[in-house]
Amino acid sequence: MNRAVFCYSIKNSRACGSVVEHVPDKNGVEGSIPSTRTMALEIKENEQLKNHSSFRIGGPARYFVVVKNKEEILEAIKFTEEKKLKYFILGGGSNVLFSDNGLDGVIIKIENCKLKIENSKIIAGSGTLLSQIMMAATEAGLSGLEWGIGIPGTIGGCVAGNCGAFGKSISESVKKIKTLDKEYSKEECEFEYRNSKFKKPSNPEIITEVELELQPRDKEIIKTQISNNLAQRKDRIPPYPSIGCIFKNPKPLAAGSLIDQCGLKRTRIGDAQISDLHANIIVNIGNAKAQDVLELIKLCKKKVKEKFGVDLEEEIVVI
Ligand SMILES: Cc1cc2nc3c(=O)[nH]c(=O)nc-3n(C[C@H](O)[C@H](O)[C@H](O)COP(=O)(O)OP(=O)(O)OC[C@H]3O[C@@H](n4cnc5c(N)ncnc54)[C@H](O)[C@@H]3O)c2cc1C
Repeated sequence: MNRAVFCYSIKNSRACGSVVEHVPDKNGVEGSIPSTRTMALEIKENEQLKNHSSFRIGGPARYFVVVKNKEEILEAIKFTEEKKLKYFILGGGSNVLFSDNGLDGVIIKIENCKLKIENSKIIAGSGTLLSQIMMAATEAGLSGLEWGIGIPGTIGGCVAGNCGAFGKSISESVKKIKTLDKEYSKEECEFEYRNSKFKKPSNPEIITEVELELQPRDKEIIKTQISNNLAQRKDRIPPYPSIGCIFKNPKPLAAGSLIDQCGLKRTRIGDAQISDLHANIIVNIGNAKAQDVLELIKLCKKKVKEKFGVDLEEEIVVI
């Protein structure tokens, strides 16, 4: 793996965690930049994407950069434009299937994790984990996210895919969303079942901040609800790497039940297998390839169409 530190001069930029005044240039020479502060983003080359997906699948990204605030996001985009490459925004990587060939572009991984509670409102940087927000809400006696127990993503990814469980979804708690240059009310987010305007390829906006409105409730009641939800989930989440449910439920039907009724549980291609605990989850039982997963997806779609006449649609994002 190659690593490189690229330097950019940013005039009038605010000082932040990763702002430095002495940084090596591209050739590794220590330079002094007295008149402008310079932000150094560590941009990795040929970073293995399997290390950034809960599926443990994916080849190398040409460039990979972690950003922790708005200024760094803008810097990463500038880098992408200079290289004339496409970028992909990554949160926790718990809903994406990366190609075995990787990505000839830039992965911008969002890790802005600020969290603020104001009365019944929670304002969180989009890289904050849903689980961290749920824990903070519980401690503050705020209810509304108890369904989120066991979901591993960031709040940015959660909003983009309108993630949910137990008949609830994040859209119910969203008050406002900030992107790099706009603010959206809940209504403007175009939330649908496992979808929002931010997940549509025609609108590749980057969520930077999420404002949630929760309900004050007794802390112990919230904790009991979380424990009950966890107990129900425990037997259905396989103990192998996965990216959660592969298909959206073709309501009122459940995708997992349709796949199960086609006799596909435990079907294996390479090291990818349809879980015997939950037929809508594919697990990586060793060294699965994206191609193996894609073939299992194709098989599920074909069999369910033949048996029930239903077209399954992917919930996951395939890169
Ligand atoms: C064990 C397990 C259980 C799961 N259970 C559930 C469940 O019960 N319910 C459920 O809905 N999902 C579930 N998931 C799927 C997944 O955790 C959620 O969809 C989660 O919200 C994805 O968040 P992420 O940060 O990992 O997003 P990523 O996988 O990183 O990205 C997903 C999509 O969101 C976009 N995105 C991410 N961050 C931003 C941002 N800041 N701005 C704009 N776009 C962004 C990405 O570009 C991509 O299109 C589960 C996954 C696993 C592995």
